[in-house]
Amino acid sequence: MILSAIDPSEKGAQVKTTVFRGARIIPADSADYIEDGTFCVQGGRITALGRTPEVTVETDAEVVDLSGLTVMPTMVNPHGHVGYLKNGVPDASHYSRENVLEHLRRLTYYGVSVIQSLGTDRDDVEIAVRDEQRAGLLRDPELALLLTAGRGLVARTPDQSNGGPFFATDSVIEVLSADHAREEVRRLAAKRPDTIKFWVDDRGGTKAKLSAAECATIIAEAHAQGIPAIAHIHDLEDAKTVLRAGADGTAHMVRGGGPDDELLELHARTGAFVFSSISVQATLFDDDSWLDAPDITAINSAESLEATRQQLDSLRGYVTTQDPDMPATFRAALGRYLEGGVRVLLSADTGLLGQLFGVAEHRELHALVSAGMSPLLAIRSATAFPAEMLGLRDRGSLAVGKRADFIALTKNPLDDIRVTRDIDSVYIEGTRIDRESLRLTWAPESRSAQKEALQ
Ligand SMILES: [Zn+2]
Repeated sequence: MILSAIDPSEKGAQVKTTVFRGARIIPADSADYIEDGTFCVQGGRITALGRTPEVTVETDAEVVDLSGLTVMPTMVNPHGHVGYLKNGVPDASHYSRENVLEHLRRLTYYGVSVIQSLGTDRDDVEIAVRDEQRAGLLRDPELALLLTAGRGLVARTPDQSNGGPFFATDSVIEVLSADHAREEVRRLAAKRPDTIKFWVDDRGGTKAKLSAAECATIIAEAHAQGIPAIAHIHDLEDAKTVLRAGADGTAHMVRGGGPDDELLELHARTGAFVFSSISVQATLFDDDSWLDAPDITAINSAESLEATRQQLDSLRGYVTTQDPDMPATFRAALGRYLEGGVRVLLSADTGLLGQLFGVAEHRELHALVSAGMSPLLAIRSATAFPAEMLGLRDRGSLAVGKRADFIALTKNPLDDIRVTRDIDSVYIEGTRIDRESLRLTWAPESRSAQKEALQ
């Protein structure tokens, strides 16, 4: 729904300019911010941006006063799993196109305008949505842009389920040999996935793991097809194996002791990135009081939040005994990656456990700062850096020529990163998203009212 918009049907006619005036602007394209800034938007793109006294404004432009607010680009999350989470539980039976779209809508509501789903597609639903968005057939500003790896690859574990994500072990591709891996990557490449994803994790010694030769074949074939390859890894040696074979990045930081000098050298030599993926695990060391936040209870039913709590409870014991001081481990690991000059990208692993769409990305920002990043670097790791990695040249930062996709916050995240969910408004291509209507659609009261009306 459009509140202040440039009508795209006015082709040829003079395109109206909207001026957004007076906000603190975090453009995210540099280590700077503007205390009192103004920017102009025409046809969804930024045409001018700078300190308020220095920006020339056309006299007939529509002016939106943002004074007192802080503007940052919408976020770009390169690692999530769309389609599975429903009523607090990620499950294969929930997967549908409708649920994928629901997740894309919830992301936009929270100012996340791009998500890459990593390897858990079913029946090419994600590939289809991605293709429709790219072709302009699915043009809805309330839907975040979807990128997808299609189906990821994992080793077959004889006589039991594989070591892929627990909610999607039946949808990932089980690799039998290096030759088979090459064949499957070719088959995937025909659908032009945005990346090739594979898992190298024995899940605590319980599952088979891809061999070094299979990893190398997957990466080499992906690159031969012009597609990047991202590896889920858990252990240090596996991270080295995939980077030696040329992986473009790892979907997690190495667990346990963090990266050593050799791994950091491999990153430096290859330019491979690392996804942060902290909050998906750190949440198990937290209490659940964050689920009571008003913005969360406003759009999720009490039952779905209770189901989320139960899931977190059931895993808490398992993970906390593996590493009783995981927050300190993360802090040390993140510090080593950053000192080693590795590009760390925000990754919320959204869509499983307590990783609610839209909320998880903001919690990951907080996790990055808690682990030692500056708020400004955390924001760039959530916006400009992932956009650049994904090749989205007109997104991720606020500058002349870029899309006017931004969040206006009521408080300053440079002082306290936890305020990024205090959202005044979200704009996509300069158009204000009607968050109030979305909130009403999702409000638990309105859903029970709808049910009664149907009876
Ligand atoms: Zn994941």
